[in-house]
Amino acid sequence: MDKSSFFTFSKYISSNPKLKVADLVFFDNFHLIVFLILSPRAREDTAYRLSKQILNNYPIIELLAKADFNIIKEIIRPIGFYNVKAKRLVSFCTMIKSTIKLNSINTYESLMEIPGVGEKAAKKFLTLTSDVQFFLFDSHVIRVFSRLGFSNELIKSIESMKAKDLHVKNITDFSNQISNFGKHVCTSKNPQCFNCELLRICQFGFIER
Ligand code: SF4
Repeated sequence: MDKSSFFTFSKYISSNPKLKVADLVFFDNFHLIVFLILSPRAREDTAYRLSKQILNNYPIIELLAKADFNIIKEIIRPIGFYNVKAKRLVSFCTMIKSTIKLNSINTYESLMEIPGVGEKAAKKFLTLTSDVQFFLFDSHVIRVFSRLGFSNELIKSIESMKAKDLHVKNITDFSNQISNFGKHVCTSKNPQCFNCELLRICQFGFIER
């Protein structure tokens, strides 16, 4: 993809109001971490709904720490890998134990120590709780990039590019908008190539024509 095509892509994604969606609302950082532990390989709406159910039953970490493992498992049963995720929730509570300690978790390094929180989840936490910006990769973003014909080098370099190099105001918003484009337009099955404004710069769309 040349510079001019990248600029076309960036401008279309960042200026399309339909791709801007409101952030999920979390009760507090405890709720956010529960959501992040439930999220891997799961639909966002399912992880969010079940994280709210956990919080409705156990509003603070001290209560979740005393919860029966089998009850936690039953609450999150609709999500994939619920057994592993229930164990991670228990390990998280055993490790952190108190709201006071939970409130001290606000750095990338401290987040990475939480069972079930990896690089992607730690970055998401920081973008939702502070002004820090990260380009957040997910399966939708990767699919869009690969269909458009982004090289591996370009994809790797995007992670460290500054907002001005990407021609956007906010890097996190930009990555979220690409993800929404992948969820609703450039879908995994039946992408809407014939209605897509990126068709003329897209390798996949060109092949499908
Ligand atoms: S033309 Fe099709 S494959 Fe290419 S970005 Fe648009 S929807 Fe995706």
